[in-house]
Amino acid sequence: MGQGQLRGVVALDGPSGTGKSSVARKLASALDARYLDTGSMYRAVTLAVLRAGVDPDDAGKVTEIALGARLVVATDPLRPGIFLGEDDVSGEIRGPEVTLAVSPVSAVPAVRELLVGQQRAIIADALDSVGGIVVEGRDIGTVVAPDAPLKVYLTASADARAQRRTRQDVAAGRTSTVDAVLADVRRRDNYDSSRAASPLRAADDAVEVDTTSLDLAGTVGAVLELVRQRGMRVTG
Ligand code: C5P
Repeated sequence: MGQGQLRGVVALDGPSGTGKSSVARKLASALDARYLDTGSMYRAVTLAVLRAGVDPDDAGKVTEIALGARLVVATDPLRPGIFLGEDDVSGEIRGPEVTLAVSPVSAVPAVRELLVGQQRAIIADALDSVGGIVVEGRDIGTVVAPDAPLKVYLTASADARAQRRTRQDVAAGRTSTVDAVLADVRRRDNYDSSRAASPLRAADDAVEVDTTSLDLAGTVGAVLELVRQRGMRVTG
């Protein structure tokens, strides 16, 4: 649609249910860029932990599983996905068991160190090959890509986030109620913001975009405008 191609990294952070994934994918495809969902990597390690019958709160064993897991991440925004070895786990990582256990797993410093290294390698590869990537998570602007020329921190009221997550769950055929999702959103927000290792927070130089009353197109439009203002698009 004549948006031009992205040059550099767009870091998109924020709590769950702010629309990060949908916004990041749309943005990446509009800008012919790659897309990296770092949450899917923490979820895939969590699935490996659960499959091994390991307690998600046992940091030592969780680290062993993470070190042995072979994650393969697909970064095409039109066909994103994640594999544990040969096994496509893109659907299974969204289930309630993983959602419940992902916060303690992602709070383990050695797990973060390992995945941040892999994320930086994926970003470097994208910059070398296509020139631009949109990366979403909790610590992209603060830790993974602190030099990103554009950092966006998405927010939305807890109610709006719970309603969005419920709609996504129902659309994907998972049983869900707004009350249960709201409780889960609050639980994960608290856990993610209060953990010692890379807590969820906006980078000092991030632009905050409140999506409570914006739809997907409105949010993507707002971020595209920031990309344009930063001179991160090349045309022709
Ligand atoms: O984005 P998503 O909800 O799939 O992320 C799942 C969980 O992974 C988050 O609740 C958080 O605990 C963890 N996460 C993280 N750092 C990231 C991305 C996700 O700690 N960069």
